[in-house]
Amino acid sequence: MSEQQSQKHSFQAEVAQLLHLVTHSLYSNPEIFLRELVSNASDACDKLRFEGINHPEYYENDPDLHVRIHLNKEQKTITISDNGIGMTQQEAIDHLGTIAKSGTKDFMSKLTGDQKSDAQLIGQFGVGFYSGFIVAEKITVESRRAGVSAAEGVRWVSNGTGEFDVEPIDKASRGTDIILHLREDALDYLDRNKVKQIINKYSDHISLPIEMQKEVWQQEEAAEGEEVKPGQYVLTDEWEAINSASALWTRNKNEISEEQYTEFYKNLSHDYEAPLAWAHNRVEGSTEYTQLLYIPARAPSNIFTREAKAGIKLYVKRVFIMDDADNLIPNYLRFVQGVVDSADLPLNVSRELLQESRDVKTIREGNARRILTVLDGLAKSEDVADQEKFAKFYAEFGSVLKEGLGEDMANRERILKLLRFASSNNDEVKTSFADYKANMKEGQKAIYYVTADSLNAAKNSPQLELFKKKGIDVLLMTERVDEWAMEFVFEFDGTPLQNVSKGAVDLGDLQDAEEKKALEQAAEQFKPVVEKLSDALKDKTSEVRVTTRLVDSPACLVVAEGELSPQLVRMLKQAGQAVPESKPVLEINPSHPLVQKLEGSAQFDDLANVIFDQALIAEGGLPEDPAQYIKRINSLLLK
Ligand code: ADP
Ligand code: MG
Repeated sequence: MSEQQSQKHSFQAEVAQLLHLVTHSLYSNPEIFLRELVSNASDACDKLRFEGINHPEYYENDPDLHVRIHLNKEQKTITISDNGIGMTQQEAIDHLGTIAKSGTKDFMSKLTGDQKSDAQLIGQFGVGFYSGFIVAEKITVESRRAGVSAAEGVRWVSNGTGEFDVEPIDKASRGTDIILHLREDALDYLDRNKVKQIINKYSDHISLPIEMQKEVWQQEEAAEGEEVKPGQYVLTDEWEAINSASALWTRNKNEISEEQYTEFYKNLSHDYEAPLAWAHNRVEGSTEYTQLLYIPARAPSNIFTREAKAGIKLYVKRVFIMDDADNLIPNYLRFVQGVVDSADLPLNVSRELLQESRDVKTIREGNARRILTVLDGLAKSEDVADQEKFAKFYAEFGSVLKEGLGEDMANRERILKLLRFASSNNDEVKTSFADYKANMKEGQKAIYYVTADSLNAAKNSPQLELFKKKGIDVLLMTERVDEWAMEFVFEFDGTPLQNVSKGAVDLGDLQDAEEKKALEQAAEQFKPVVEKLSDALKDKTSEVRVTTRLVDSPACLVVAEGELSPQLVRMLKQAGQAVPESKPVLEINPSHPLVQKLEGSAQFDDLANVIFDQALIAEGGLPEDPAQYIKRINSLLLK
């Protein structure tokens, strides 16, 4: 034993807060401590396997990696041991004294301060190492890093309040022992069967053996005429695996239960909710790999930030290589969690190498296709449960998926098939492009849509008036990403798509000869007014023209073909981007009394500007000079 004395350290403030919560909350699900500690032990073995590729000496003549659970009824301890990578003293101080992982930070941010609901939350989340304090009044960690001398071990001790002690120790065996000194109310975890059951429930998928000491039944034989002597189970020195010890994804689908898939997902993702769906396949061909991909039920809070990471773990021939391998899934499917195990990539593959690898490209494309197929299956399914899953998926991830329209040309049509929008004929039910197309009016040659900042703005957009009057359905696109994403889409299944706020309306055969003639006549009749308007508004519009698309409104703004829409311009400006200045087209309604008043009006200039500003307001914009606008309105009101 080393003579050095132990040092006291304080936990990081967040850890102290978390620990307080762990120990003071009514714990709804205490058994998860085993899942967390076994998962850490397994991670430690994964790390050794990975570092062992370049440092075979780390194995130290102890090549069979395992996790061992030892129950000591006299001492009232459970010890979870692994012969994985281990920790140096500094690592023990850093990793067991601070919170680094984002999952826990996310968890902390959700805390309400209300004991009861926080207790609920903590039970669902799992907080890694600290969950040991649910059942232990004291935890001793003894560890030694692989490859260092036996004298460089470390002992870490804490009772889960503000501080922990660290001292150097001699530790012959590589790896980590986590010794839980059980609290009086947690002594039932000394029961071998109970522990076995919990391991089976949570940790069966772990790919290395989780071992417990073998028990044998001992009973002395009774002699003739003697009473039967009482027997008992006795622990032996032999260890036996209590799990299946094969990585879940390497097993056959039909040997894996739904529960096991779900449990594996929860472990992988730190999500407490079950996934919506998964796909598990062995892919053969030019490149061989196994994919086990999950679609979560809920989007992480950072899905739209730069921090968002792809949740794919990369393995090469069962060896864990890296977390968050974002090259294995396109960005618009970054919500997918799972495992890819490649048979072809080299074990020493780096992130840089991944970027250039052809195999990786093939895997990425295969993963994207698979996820889209799963989604398509849910969307098409007659099963109500599947439909609900799809609706849930769409509500959570629909806007992320839409990014794929710009990102993944090869799958554009498949993505389009999955999109759903409210429409002007029925804004309560969401419709697909396919359904829209099937219900098009006779003579209708395009799929019409409008983009706006909100459902109300879309629904009440003046551009829709004629469509509504004629009962022609228009898709209402109201998410921020829509405007951008639709820039990449020109048709669906052979039918062109038309943004009704872009360019002149061409209803084609939906307009009869009479209507076309009326428009020509109006254009002729209003020619002088249009010229005067163009002149008065020349700083604000690129063109003024007569339209038949309006029924109730005097005017509307449309974007010239090929120009950016006003919403997109607003969006880009908010994002601080330079946007080329472009002026909208003002379309006027010849049957509106205000427009008819224009001719010969003594206040032509005021009226013209008010009509323009109102059109701007109608599509969600603001007059450039609100004070001036009010002044003009008031002056007109007074007349
Ligand atoms: P996470 O496992 O999500 O990182 P934990 O709270 O479970 O968070 O563990 C914190 C850290 O402590 C781990 O990341 C690891 O560095 C270290 N650790 C915990 N248990 C072990 C172990 N058995 N062997 C080696 N390191 C460990
Ligand atoms: Mg952990």
